[in-house]
Amino acid sequence: MPYTASQSHRARSTLAGVLVLVGLTVSGCGAEDDAGQAPGAGPRPQAARSGKVTIVYEERTVPPEDRQVVTLIRDSRVLERTADWVNRTLTLPYDMVVKVTAEVPPGVTDAVTQPDGRTIYIPPSFLAQIEDSFADVVKTVKRPAPFPASQYNTDDLTVLATEFIFGHEMGHALQRQLLLANLGLEEDAADGFASFYT
Ligand SMILES: [Zn+2]
Repeated sequence: MPYTASQSHRARSTLAGVLVLVGLTVSGCGAEDDAGQAPGAGPRPQAARSGKVTIVYEERTVPPEDRQVVTLIRDSRVLERTADWVNRTLTLPYDMVVKVTAEVPPGVTDAVTQPDGRTIYIPPSFLAQIEDSFADVVKTVKRPAPFPASQYNTDDLTVLATEFIFGHEMGHALQRQLLLANLGLEEDAADGFASFYT
């Protein structure tokens, strides 16, 4: 935070992330200053147990106009896929909860990771923006040759973009929980994890 990227900028970034895997050039979501954080500083991870990533859909908060896209993402299990990979592969010092919810902290309009890396918010309205962008893309942008025709539709592109964006946020969350040293920009490192994971 703060979230200053315009929607059109976000939409272009989303497309870029999915189709050519260049980095999302979002501004803001990693703005917390962690400069000077020494590797290994802070609370030590508990050796006895690993924190777990859980995905929570707060359906009661989702406005009617966003229910269809939330159902699309939930049924795709794309968020669970990433969470399962982290749960199988990594030892986390703390639990992490990923909330698909309209009840977000003030000022949050897109996917965001809290500074402690223990909560990721994904607002339904943000998912709807992604879907709107790709509804436009499939009508106006010629399919890149390497991209399968069977997946060049609004639903599949929305799911794939959400996977990349969630991977970006997971990159932030892992850096913050594991107190990883950033040798460059945190946003680039988060994109790096998303590219690696997806
Ligand atoms: Zn970010």
